[in-house]
Amino acid sequence: MISVQGYEGHKVAVLGLGRSGLATAAALQAGGATPLLWDDSPESRARAEAAGWTCHDLNRADAWEGVSALIVSPGIPHLYPAPNKLIARAMAEGVPVDNDIGLFFRSWATRDWDNFDIAPRTVCVTGSNGKSTTTALIHHILAQAGRPTQMAGNIGRGVLDIDPAEDGEVVVLELSSYQTDLARALTPDIAVFTNLSPDHLDRHGGMGGYFAAKRRLFAEGGPDRAIIGVDEPEGVFLANQIAVAREDDRVIRVSAARRLGDFGWSVFARKGFLSEWRKGRQVASIDLREVRGLPGAHNHQNACAAYAACRSLGLAPRQIEEAFHSFGGLPHRSQTIAEKAGVRFVNDSKATNVDSAAKALQAFQNIRWIAGGLGKEGGVASLRAFLGSVKKAYFIGHSGRDFALELGEIPHEICETMERAVARAAEEAEGGDTVLLAPAAASFDQYPNFEKRGEHFTQLVQALPG
Ligand code: ADP
Repeated sequence: MISVQGYEGHKVAVLGLGRSGLATAAALQAGGATPLLWDDSPESRARAEAAGWTCHDLNRADAWEGVSALIVSPGIPHLYPAPNKLIARAMAEGVPVDNDIGLFFRSWATRDWDNFDIAPRTVCVTGSNGKSTTTALIHHILAQAGRPTQMAGNIGRGVLDIDPAEDGEVVVLELSSYQTDLARALTPDIAVFTNLSPDHLDRHGGMGGYFAAKRRLFAEGGPDRAIIGVDEPEGVFLANQIAVAREDDRVIRVSAARRLGDFGWSVFARKGFLSEWRKGRQVASIDLREVRGLPGAHNHQNACAAYAACRSLGLAPRQIEEAFHSFGGLPHRSQTIAEKAGVRFVNDSKATNVDSAAKALQAFQNIRWIAGGLGKEGGVASLRAFLGSVKKAYFIGHSGRDFALELGEIPHEICETMERAVARAAEEAEGGDTVLLAPAAASFDQYPNFEKRGEHFTQLVQALPG
């Protein structure tokens, strides 16, 4: 655990008592502060009390007397679509509002670091898609190279839950736009922006607010190195704004769509090959086509971003290439879970929207596509452009029939359940086919979450003969 610095002897309110909220309370207490815990949900309060905490009703008239800061969980709106009423009250009373990421950055460095040979560093990853994959990949490469490293943030552990730094350690943090929007300290050594597409717009008052939230990671602390995906206009703008000139190698531009030769430093993937260029010369190239854990152009974008981060940390291209090959992929994201009789089975249950399903459909050939669930606003008609490799679709769930109506020009079958879809797809598949779960829909009609849906798919596949 990290002890929070700067609030010794102070009262600090903590709103939101999920995993990160409780970790925050413990880290505040370890640093000598008195955390005042509250959650609007009685169930969450009961869980906190069962874990030994006492709750303090922040709605009371005198609740904010002598409170030095309010720390909030990322799920609670602080501005749009409307501020949570307790956050609004804190702001109105002039109490600084922060989150665990802000506390982490003000607390991580300690006096012990004076004795270290190599100062610990932080790499922060943000963007609309690929954050978890890129974060996990950077962490994996560093671990394979024998570097001390920990991973936290929006993935796995809360940031204040990690262990105090070791000599030369690299902490890799995945940060969502909610987290970057609110953190009062945001000072990574290396910051990564993967890409940008519309998401969570209600929480950011539109696309401009969403991009502004992500930009804070680059604007607030001034990272030593900014790794920026330039396949959208926002990335091009951000890279241009940070770099003092074209040859400025504090910015590493990344693309999975085009060649980027003429900058101070760039990494791009084309036709399955990653290339690194510095000052007008190619310095390394890696064949990504056989890297099983990172299929498709979207994962090549993640590979380029992770490569650039690890190069910035002094790793050699060969070390990174080796580690690519041992990366198993993250569960539920383009994850090959089995090969049976020449048929590959891929679990991309995290493809809960049309954009991520489109990426998966472009990453494989001869696809037997399992899709459906609880469809999202806007429908799936835009996927028509990406059906070229689909041999047949097997639709499931609440929106299965709507999907069939919208995409009915391809061979398809309404299967209703995952059991039937897996059985039918496996029965009809031939050697060289890929059975792909990429639902383009939420899971909540049939499962508690996308993880459970992916696990069910995996169990059914594992039970198949062969
Ligand atoms: P995030 O943490 O940003 O949600 P993940 O790595 O968990 O990203 O991937 C989420 C979904 O998006 C998965 O379906 C995955 O296959 C797809 N995806 C992964 N990387 C990218 C990328 N660079 N661009 C677009 N889609 C991606």
